[in-house]
Amino acid sequence: MSLLTSKPKGTADVLPGESEKIVFMENKLRECAALYGFCELRTPVFEHTELFQRGVGETTDVVQKEMYTFEDNGRRSITLRPEGTAGTVRAFLEHGLFNEPLPQKYFYLTSCYRYEKPQAGRLREFHQFGVEALGAGSPAEDAEIISLAKHIFDLFGVEKLRLEINSIGCPVCRKSFQAALRDYFTSYKDKLCETCLTRLEKNPMRILDCKSPVCGEIAKGAPRVLDYLCAECEDHFAQVKKYLTVMGIDFTVNPTIVRGLDYYTKTVFEFVSDAIGAQGTVCGGGRYDGLVGELGGVPLPACGFGMGIERLKLLLEAQETEFPPPDRVQLYLAPANAAYSFEAMRLCETLRSEGVSAQTDVAGRSLKAQMKYANKLSARFTLVLGEDEISTHLAKVKNMDTGEEKEVSLDRLAGDFLKILLSAQLGDIPAADAEEIKLTLLNGGKNTWNV
Ligand code: ATP
Ligand code: MG
Repeated sequence: MSLLTSKPKGTADVLPGESEKIVFMENKLRECAALYGFCELRTPVFEHTELFQRGVGETTDVVQKEMYTFEDNGRRSITLRPEGTAGTVRAFLEHGLFNEPLPQKYFYLTSCYRYEKPQAGRLREFHQFGVEALGAGSPAEDAEIISLAKHIFDLFGVEKLRLEINSIGCPVCRKSFQAALRDYFTSYKDKLCETCLTRLEKNPMRILDCKSPVCGEIAKGAPRVLDYLCAECEDHFAQVKKYLTVMGIDFTVNPTIVRGLDYYTKTVFEFVSDAIGAQGTVCGGGRYDGLVGELGGVPLPACGFGMGIERLKLLLEAQETEFPPPDRVQLYLAPANAAYSFEAMRLCETLRSEGVSAQTDVAGRSLKAQMKYANKLSARFTLVLGEDEISTHLAKVKNMDTGEEKEVSLDRLAGDFLKILLSAQLGDIPAADAEEIKLTLLNGGKNTWNV
């Protein structure tokens, strides 16, 4: 296997046919974000390693085992972002965005990098849609972001998805919970995996998140965080549940969810599907009231979620969601011989400047081979440029779906062709009205034309 023709393990190429699906999903995600008032924030692919060590947490799997960390030529330790929250909060602090009206609500659509064992729904380069609401402490915000995630799933018609929520408390109640966990797990010291033994010292709550079956089995009998919540956290959780209930959002409380990143406090949640195998968590998030302060800012409450784009796509494919068909070439211009290629290229220019997708021969093919190619492209219309067409400036546009032909003037090709496109789309329309009609439907609504 040549390294020159094989991608690194755990990465994916998105080929035409698939990329349109991703773009369709991304567009919908952007629309949903806008509906809830979240604005896009873009951060670099790499950050100082310290940001993730501090932000994600030293005892997490992500920091301990999964980061792509390297020294750059300036001898700085750099890490490819394993998640989007730390960078978002860093940018929020760096640009003084805490001076803007709060909450600041951001979304991102980015690649993330984790050195993991690749399998279905688990890649080393993957993509997340994430939202973060910074400066919002009310349980209403927890409910709002959960509602946004649910809105996305509803919009895509996702069925059979469970929303599981939990509260993991704040540093105050976490202390007594961690102590109870330490007591409990200490009695299983000889059975825990090696990583969990370090966790037992540093952060016993992380043991609950261990993927080893033995540790998982032991964790089943562990103390439950909900029994240790302080009054404030308990009230916060009760209110989140109340908001969700009045908003008509079904949920179950799953006291075993602790999430894999250290910054979470109070509410945590996951949207889980059974339809896509072992990697069933499509979206995970919660409140992280400690992170802004941890990264050196004034303590500000915040919450957000990350949604895996690849897992969302697997989910849509598992339920056979229909994606819109790819855009078709609207007009393929076929010069009957090489001498007419100049005119074909000129006409393509005029068509494209009017927003009509047009193609012509760029491979020096015979007319027959060109028509075969146009068919493979599923061009909607074709036009042959031969001697007659060149001399009379009149040509026939052929509808490849119906076989119907209509005459056009090469001197007014864009206008004439747009009318043909329009009537193919809307049926015959009176010429007088055509003047008034804006073509928003054609070309997927990307342009409007006055015909
Ligand atoms: P998991 O338990 O599956 O490892 P996680 O708790 O590490 O997930 P988060 O850090 O919360 O995941 O990331 C949010 C979302 O990003 C996940 O719910 C999932 O949809 C997606 N995700 C996380 N890691 C990967 C990965 N390696 N490949 C593809 N998607 C991923
Ligand atoms: Mg993980």
